[in-house]
Amino acid sequence: MKTTPVSLHAASSYDPDSLTANLRSLLAPLGGMEAFVHPGDRVLLKPNLLSGKAPEKAVTTHPEIVRAIIHLVQEAGGVVKVGDSPGIGKPEAVAKKCGIWEVIETSGVEFAPFCEFVNVAAGSGTFQHLELARDILDTDVVINLPKLKTHQMMGLTCGVKNLFGAVVGLRKPQLHLQAGTSKATFALMLLELAAHIRPALTIVDAIIGMEGDGPGSGDPIQIGALIAGIEPLAVDTIACELLGVSPDAVWTQKIARERGLFGSVREEIELFGPPPEQLRPPRFTPAHSSDLNFSLPGFLKRPLRRSLTARPVVDNRRCQVCGICIEACPPHAMRIDAHGLQIDEHVCIRCFCCQELCPHAALHTRQGLLLRLAQFLNPPRRS
Ligand code: SF4
Ligand code: SF4
Repeated sequence: MKTTPVSLHAASSYDPDSLTANLRSLLAPLGGMEAFVHPGDRVLLKPNLLSGKAPEKAVTTHPEIVRAIIHLVQEAGGVVKVGDSPGIGKPEAVAKKCGIWEVIETSGVEFAPFCEFVNVAAGSGTFQHLELARDILDTDVVINLPKLKTHQMMGLTCGVKNLFGAVVGLRKPQLHLQAGTSKATFALMLLELAAHIRPALTIVDAIIGMEGDGPGSGDPIQIGALIAGIEPLAVDTIACELLGVSPDAVWTQKIARERGLFGSVREEIELFGPPPEQLRPPRFTPAHSSDLNFSLPGFLKRPLRRSLTARPVVDNRRCQVCGICIEACPPHAMRIDAHGLQIDEHVCIRCFCCQELCPHAALHTRQGLLLRLAQFLNPPRRS
C-alpha cells in the first residue's frame, strides 16, 4: 500500500536552542530541511496569523517556531518570505502583536501581506474558482506552519485549515457565505484548496495548542509535541490521534475519509516517532459541537434549527461594541442598536467567524436543547 511519512516528536518548550534541536530531530526521518529546500529556492512560510494576539494566547503560530524554521531554511540555502492574510486587521499590525514581525525583522527576511490574488479553478460545483494569494503561488516551496487548535465550525484547525489563509482578505467571508450552513461544503473547499497549494512540508506547532472555543477564544493547553509531514491531511490524521479526537468530529477529516482522499486513514501513514497516545494530553476539551451530525428532511430541519444547532450569543459585559464582528459576518446577520450588539439568528449561518475574530472574547456558543440532549445521551469520546 502506498504510504506517506509523518514525523511526531515530543517538545515541551519554545526555548530557542531546544526548539531548533527538536525540529532537526523531527525532520530527520523526512530527510531534513535539505530534502525540501535547495540552494536558491524561494520559500514561503505560512504561519497561522489569525489575529493580533500575544503568543501566550495560542491563537497564532509561536514566533520562536517561525524563527527556528527560518534558520533551518536559510541553512539549506533557501530565500525566505513569511506571509499570511489574517481574518481581520492589517497583516503587519497582526504580525507585530503576535511577535512574528520582530522575528522577520531580526532574521532579515521579507514579509508577504498577501494583497494580490490570482483566480484558480476549483473542482467542486459550489466553488467555481478560488482567489489565492499571488505570493503563495509564485514561489518554489511553501512550508505550512499551523497551530493545533480547536475550531468551532470545523472541529480542529491544523494542516488543511491553516491554508485557508491563502485566500486573500475579504474573499474569506464570501466563501463562508457560498458554503452557507453546510460544513461539508466548506470542508470540501478547504480540501480542494490544500490540494491546489500542495505545500512541500507541513510543520505543526503543537507545543502549546488551544482547547475549547477555538480558534480565537479558546484556552491554551500544553500538548508538548511537534508534527511534520508532506501531506497536510496525513498530518491532521496524526493530530486527531494525538489529541484523541474522533476523525468524524473534524469535518475536513470526515469528508476526506468519505471521499477516500490519500492520507485520511492511519493505514496510509508511515509514522516516525512515538505512538501518538504516548504524547496525548491527559485532558482535552473539544470545541462545542455546533450541530447534530445527521440528516433530517428539510421540513423538520427548518423548524427545529434553533434546537438542533449551536449559535453565537453576545456577552454584553465583555462586548466593547467595536463592530469588528459585524464587518466579518458573511451574511450581515449582526448590527448594533441602542441595546448593544444584536444577532439575527434566522440570517446567521453558524460559521462562527464572529467568535473567531472578536478581540474581547465576547461571543459564546449556546447549544440548542436537542443538541445538548443528544450530547448528554451520547457524549463525545476520545478515540
Ligand atoms: S462581540 Fe466582540 S467584535 Fe463584536 S462588537 Fe462586541 S467586542 Fe466587538
Ligand atoms: S453571526 Fe457569527 S456565526 Fe452567525 S453568520 Fe455572522 S459571523 Fe457567522
